[in-house]
Amino acid sequence: MRYITPITTTTYNKEYLLNTKSNDSLVSTRYPVRVTDYYASLITRKDDAIWKQCMPDARELEDHFQCPDPLDEKALSPVPGLIHRYPDRVVLLVSNRCPVYCRFCMRKRLVGSGDAPMGDDELCNALGYISTHPEIHDVILSGGDPLMLDDASLSQILSGLRAISHVKIIRIGTRIPVTFPERITADLCSMLRKYHPLYINTHFNHPDEITAASGNACSLLADAGIPLGNQTVLLKGVNDSIETMRQLLTELLTIRVKPYYLHQMDLVQGTAHFRTSVRTGLNIVRGLRGHISGLAVPHYVIDLPGGKGKVAIIPDDVIVQGTTLQLRTYTGELVTYQDIIDSPE
Ligand SMILES: *Cc1c(COP(=O)(O)O)cnc(C)c1O
Ligand code: SF4
Repeated sequence: MRYITPITTTTYNKEYLLNTKSNDSLVSTRYPVRVTDYYASLITRKDDAIWKQCMPDARELEDHFQCPDPLDEKALSPVPGLIHRYPDRVVLLVSNRCPVYCRFCMRKRLVGSGDAPMGDDELCNALGYISTHPEIHDVILSGGDPLMLDDASLSQILSGLRAISHVKIIRIGTRIPVTFPERITADLCSMLRKYHPLYINTHFNHPDEITAASGNACSLLADAGIPLGNQTVLLKGVNDSIETMRQLLTELLTIRVKPYYLHQMDLVQGTAHFRTSVRTGLNIVRGLRGHISGLAVPHYVIDLPGGKGKVAIIPDDVIVQGTTLQLRTYTGELVTYQDIIDSPE
């Protein structure tokens, strides 16, 4: 597997991310830093939402309580580069590189370190595992960013998966439309569309990331028949307000991206300063349902430590008293709903 070259990313930039004063060299020896010129160009001032997501912060080194791999992905890996947590789907870690290293990354322990893509032998082993497990119907390419691989490498992986008849759908998780939109080319799209049904989940966190360029990247993918979803991470100081979240989620629909998940921050070492309370998350979710298009409302999920899986949490809007339900509407009114008892058929 090979990465795209050259990677048109300059380390940091935008006047060194607005004349940094933080001890970023100390941070970057532990957790690599990279920002594309494009993503840096979205910064309008120090401390804005873009800056916070990509600027190294001394607090990354002060987080001694959270663990590097709280989701126990290593233990759930039957062969290198593959995570098999749920019965019918697996995650394939094909790349260790991203165009921008997000400071809150849940795979902070891996991305950028070592930096090598999945090797041919490793891919062969992983495909072997998938082909001998007929219960696997859904394969998710992740990393790092899978679209950092060149088109030929991606095509090799996708055709390997398509040769396995029990693999029904393929998904790619990528933040490239957001951080490096020029990577989404007509050539890439015409290659990807040969491997349908193919889904892409992208990763927008803030309305400032929705631009002509990222919108155009999403358009190209959508025009290739690829349904686009979005995962957002709830980030303190970046998108932890109802107003910002409403704007982000509704604007995503206008670029043909359907919000899928809103992630509570994982307990990953080096990211604690981005974490909000679940109460804040629930309050935001309560500000969505009914207030904005239902299409724009994602599932708010906590990925439980220890590899127990994702749990969707919803605001507590149902009070059950026997067959009488008290339901809270989006305006806060409590309405009684009379349920029935199912009779045998
Ligand atoms: C999130 C995740 C999946 C996919 O979960 P969906 O709810 O189907 O999107 C699969 N495997 C692992 C290890 C995951 O973390
Ligand atoms: S693009 Fe994804 S994998 Fe890469 S650093 Fe950001 S969050 Fe992590």
